[in-house]
Amino acid sequence: MKKWMLMLCFLLFFDVQMIGGMRDKTSLSTFRQAGMPVELFQKMGMKAQDMEQYLGFWEDLKYFPVAGRKEAPKEVFYFEDTWLEDRNYGGKRAHQGCDVFGKEDRREYYPVVSMTDGVVETVGWLPLGGWRIGIRSPGGGFFYYAHLSSYEKEFQEGDAVKAGEILGFLGDTGYGEEGTRGKFPCHLHVGIYVKTQKEAEHALNPYPVLLFLQSRQKNFFY
Ligand SMILES: [Zn+2]
Repeated sequence: MKKWMLMLCFLLFFDVQMIGGMRDKTSLSTFRQAGMPVELFQKMGMKAQDMEQYLGFWEDLKYFPVAGRKEAPKEVFYFEDTWLEDRNYGGKRAHQGCDVFGKEDRREYYPVVSMTDGVVETVGWLPLGGWRIGIRSPGGGFFYYAHLSSYEKEFQEGDAVKAGEILGFLGDTGYGEEGTRGKFPCHLHVGIYVKTQKEAEHALNPYPVLLFLQSRQKNFFY
């Protein structure tokens, strides 16, 4: 190979690397400006293109979805990264969400609150999700709260919801026909979906969102 060709190859390679690197740096600073915990996402092995999917709704996130009670304002909730773990009800499938547990396995005990402002898009019974409610935030995130033991009020599709508003109570409904309870320990299943060019409902891992909101737990003194 001629010397100039080698040189050209080298320059091209270098250019591509540089442009790629610059693009990554730009988007990382955009994510940081929106308040995204970039290091946390990176620790989970996520790349800029993965983080990009959270960007639209990040600034909508206000409260952890389960709240403390008067008797225990410093309630601690537990959740793990179970993204795409195997689940068996309704055929073999992958867990597209994150489950939040309280210390006590009790229905009607912990308030479930909306993480964001938004509009109710879906509400009612689902064989898998039990009593569930789905809320679309202004930035386009769809937040799905499942297995509720009850709703705070009769929500209708199209209702406006405020961040921190009580949606209902943590429970153990689902895995059967309407009213089925007790098939698993009480917990809140959180799902987050966004519209992409390819999919109307693209599921995102809620784990980094819940970690971020952990310090933003709302407590009720009633
Ligand atoms: Zn779940």
